[in-house]
Amino acid sequence: MPAASTILSIVVPCFNEQDVLCETCSRLLAVRAALVAKAKISPRSHIVFVDDGSRDSTWQLIEAWVQGGSPVTGVKLSRNCGHQNALLAGMSCSRADAVVTIDADLQDDETAIERMVDAYLQGCEVVYGVRARRDSDSWFKRVTARGFYRLLSALGVPTVFDHADYRLLGRRAIDYLQRFGEINLFLRGVVPLLGLRSCAVHYDRRPRRAGVSKYPLRRMIEFALDGITSFSIAPLRAITVVGMGLSLACVGLAGWALAVRLTLAEAVPGWASTILPIFFLGGVQLFCVGMLGEYIGKIYMESKKRPRYLIETVAKPEGLQRRAGA
Ligand code: UDP
Ligand code: MG
Repeated sequence: MPAASTILSIVVPCFNEQDVLCETCSRLLAVRAALVAKAKISPRSHIVFVDDGSRDSTWQLIEAWVQGGSPVTGVKLSRNCGHQNALLAGMSCSRADAVVTIDADLQDDETAIERMVDAYLQGCEVVYGVRARRDSDSWFKRVTARGFYRLLSALGVPTVFDHADYRLLGRRAIDYLQRFGEINLFLRGVVPLLGLRSCAVHYDRRPRRAGVSKYPLRRMIEFALDGITSFSIAPLRAITVVGMGLSLACVGLAGWALAVRLTLAEAVPGWASTILPIFFLGGVQLFCVGMLGEYIGKIYMESKKRPRYLIETVAKPEGLQRRAGA
C-alpha cells in the first residue's frame, strides 16, 4: 500500500485529563501534520480521544476541537470503564489502517510515533513502544513494575518487558483483537498472542506532564491480579503443590512427635509448636481460598457477558463520518 494512503488513528484514553489535554492535543496534531507532510500517512488520519467517564471538562475540550475542524474524533463512554476498555472502545471506533495508542499524560514520547509508523510501513503489524529509561517513575513504581513483568513471564504469560500500552497495531491486529471476547481483556498479554510480525521502538519515559496518576496502589494491585489471573492458572497449581507439601510435612511431623512420646519419659511441653503451625496453616488456607475466589470471581464476571463499555456519544468532523463509525 502506498505510504500516503495509510490512514492512521492515534487513540488517547482520557480520564479527568483537562490539565494536560491541550498540550497533548497540540503535540499529537504536530506529529500527525509532520507525518502527513512527509507523505508517510494520509491526510485523513486523525486523533481519537476517548473520554472514559471524566468528571472534569475533558469532554468539553474534545468537543471544541472537533467543532473547530481539527482532525479529531471524540468518543464519550457512558461511565468510567477503565483504561483497557477505553483503549478498546477507541480502537473499535476507528476504521483506520493502523492505530497508535498513547496515554494522555505525555509520559510516552510522542515523537516515537514516527518510528512506529516507519516500522509499520516496513511490514511490522505490531510495534511495541518499549521504555528504554524510566528514571522519571518513582523508585516504588520501577521496582513493582519490574517484579510484575518478571512474575508474569515466570507464570508463562507472554510478556514484553517495559512495554505498557504505547503501541501501533495494524488493521489485521485490531480485527484479531475484536475476537477476544473476555470482559477482563489484558491487552499487554493478548497482543503478543496474536502471532503477527512485531518489533519494538525504544523511547525514554517522561514524568507526567500535569494532573495526577489514575493508578493509585489499589488499582495497580487490581490490574496486576487481573493480568495474572486472566492468563495463567499457575497460582492454582502452586496452591495444590503447597497443600500437598504441607500435608506430607504434617505426616512426617506426626511420626516424629510419636517417636518423641515413646522414647522420652517426659513430653516437651511447648505451645509454640502447637500454636504457630495453626496460625501459619490458617494463613496459608486463607491465601488459597482467596486465590480460588479470584478465579471464581473471574468466571462469574465473564459468565455475565456484560458489554465492556458503552458509548454515549461520538463527535467527529463531517469528512470522517464514513470512516469512523461507532
Ligand atoms: N485512564 C483511563 N481510565 C481510567 C484510568 C486511566 O482512561 O480509569 C487513562 C488516563 O487518562 C491516562 C492513561 O489511562 O491517559 C494512563 O493512566 P495514568 O497516566 O494515570 O497511569 P500511570 O501512568 O500513572 O500508570
Ligand atoms: Mg501516566
